[in-house]
Parts: sequence; C-alpha cells; structure tokens
Amino acid sequence: CAAPAAQTEPSQAQFFSMDTVMTVRVYDGPGEEAVQAARQAVEELDGLLSRTDADSQLSALNAHAGDGISVPLDSRVTELLAFAKSVSQLLPGDFDVTIAPVMDAWGFTTDQRQVPDPQTLAGALSLVDSGKLEVDKEASTARLEAAGMEVDLGAVAKGYAAGQAAAAIRDAGSSSALLDLGGNVTALGRKEDGSAWQVGVKDPQDTAQTLCVLSMEDQTASTSGGYERYFEENGIQYHHIIDPKTGYPADSGLLSVTVVSENHMLADALSTALFVAGEDAALEFWRSRTNFELVLCTADSRVVVTQGLEEGLRPTGEERGYTY
Ligand code: ADP
Ligand code: MG
Ligand code: MG
Repeated sequence: CAAPAAQTEPSQAQFFSMDTVMTVRVYDGPGEEAVQAARQAVEELDGLLSRTDADSQLSALNAHAGDGISVPLDSRVTELLAFAKSVSQLLPGDFDVTIAPVMDAWGFTTDQRQVPDPQTLAGALSLVDSGKLEVDKEASTARLEAAGMEVDLGAVAKGYAAGQAAAAIRDAGSSSALLDLGGNVTALGRKEDGSAWQVGVKDPQDTAQTLCVLSMEDQTASTSGGYERYFEENGIQYHHIIDPKTGYPADSGLLSVTVVSENHMLADALSTALFVAGEDAALEFWRSRTNFELVLCTADSRVVVTQGLEEGLRPTGEERGYTY
C-alpha cells in the first residue's frame, strides 16, 4: 500500500520577543541556520527599540527629549523612525509615533491600567506631536524637540522586524518560510508543493474562528484589533489603540483591520492607523494607493475585503456579506 508523500518537517523556533510570542518556521535550505538568523534579527531589534528597556537606543532618544541633543542611533532605528514619522504625517489624526505619553497615562506601559483623569490625559495629549520628532537618516541621529515627549514604536516595530527577519532568512539561503510575529504573519516564497501559503484572518468576535483565508506569497498580513490588548473598568472595555484626536481608545466602528502588503512595516503601520481611521476613511485611503489590500471587520459584523485579495480568497463566513 502506498504511504502518503512524506512532508518535510520545518525547522522552527518559538520565542518571546517584543512583548509577544513569535514563531519562525523555515521549510527549505539551511533551515536551522535560517531560523536562528531570523530570531537573532528580531531580538537585536527588540534590544534597540524597546521603550521599557532603559538601555535601548529608543530609551536614549526619549531620555534626551527637549535637551537639544541629536542622539546617534543605529541605522535600523533611524530608518524605522523616519518611516513612522512619515506615516504620522500621511495620516495625521489616526497615527502618531509620539503617542507614548498617552499610552503611559492609560497605564498600558506598566500594566497599572486605568482610565486617566481628564487633566492627566490632556497633559499627555499635548505632548503628542510627531512634527517635533526630527530624524536625520544620513547622520543616523534623531531628536525630540520638547521635554516630556516620547516615541513609542509599538505600532510598527513588529512589521519592521518581519522585514529584517525575512531578509535574514534569505541571506542564510532559504526561501520558503512562515513567520508569526504576534499578529503579523509573514509568508516567504511558496510552500514546498509550489502553492501559495494559506493564512487565516481571525474573527475578532470569536478568535477561534476565521473571517477568511488569504493566499499569500512574499507578503505580511498585519492585524490590529481592540480585542488583542485591553482592560475593563466599570464594565467598559478600554483597548490599546489610541485615537490621537481624543486620547481615548479608537472607536471607529471597526473591530479589526488586516493589511496585506509586500512592504512588511507598512502593513503593521497601516493596520494600526486604519483601525483608528474607520471603514470609510480606510477604503478611501486604499483607493488612493496600490501597495496594500485590506480585510475589515465592522462592529455590525460585516467583513469588507478589497479587490486585490479576491483571487485566492476563501471566505469562511459567507453569511456575513463580503464586499470586494
Ligand atoms: P499590536 O501591538 O497588538 O500588534 P498594533 O500594531 O496595532 O497592535 O500596535 C498597537 C500599539 O501601537 C500600541 O500598543 C501602542 O504602542 C501604539 N499605538 C497605539 N495607538 C497608536 C496610534 N494612534 N498611532 C501610533 N501608535 C499607536
Ligand atoms: Mg501596527
Ligand atoms: Mg501589530
């Protein structure tokens, strides 16, 4: 009797970095070496970009806020800062990389989570202004103009890490891999059998279920949702994606936003920004660009999928009405 064709087991590692559980699986080439190279790339970035680690380069930048010093930084840090600043300026009112004081007011940084009093929140919000973050990529320095300002890269660091990890895997000589960096799923190349990777998008209302399954190749799918990190006070849920217009958790009528793009850090940044922006603004922004696609889940349980994902998409909950 014929045994089924043997599936090669991937080389893999699961580890905790950037405050989340990450998995790297490599399916071809020098698997183990590629896995370790990817892990090292992510862990190096975590060491540079962490806001809670006083020895990180990001902490050095934040510590010098308002004192006029341009802080010398690793080129990866200035690349990411410049990118995050550009998104802040592209989608003002939805995204701001200097949101840190507001995250602190809500206690999301320390785990002492609380609804801040209006004065504290207003004070924190007055410090949020990415226009006062100066980044010099040539010199690889950055500077925060006002005392009390701080940068928080939580919305973009994992996407950037995905890109760096993917490059490390390719440099090691592998080309088929699947990475899950906490809500950012990156598909490298294709599966062994030559078909595209199949990646499920979680249903924010029941994370054991999927909204749909995406066909992916050399792309990242990044999901932002209020369900991922939140606390409850007096029966009200407060999540960690902040509307910089109000200082409160975004309440745009979306439960989750998944952005699929070949640009890994763009996927991460836009999933956060468009979650704040809401359905209409997100779709309008999508129409003005060509480098990403969207899966939106609305509070009234609709699933909206943009045209570029149509091919290869497997809806798993048709009764909820897909719009392409
Ligand atoms: P996750 O961290 O769950 O992957 P996101 O990628 O959406 O989710 O990033 C959320 C993080 O981004 C927050 O924890 C905070 O550090 C930061 N953040 C929250 N709101 C904003 C915002 N409006 N603009 C920029 N960064 C934000
Ligand atoms: Mg993000
Ligand atoms: Mg994310």
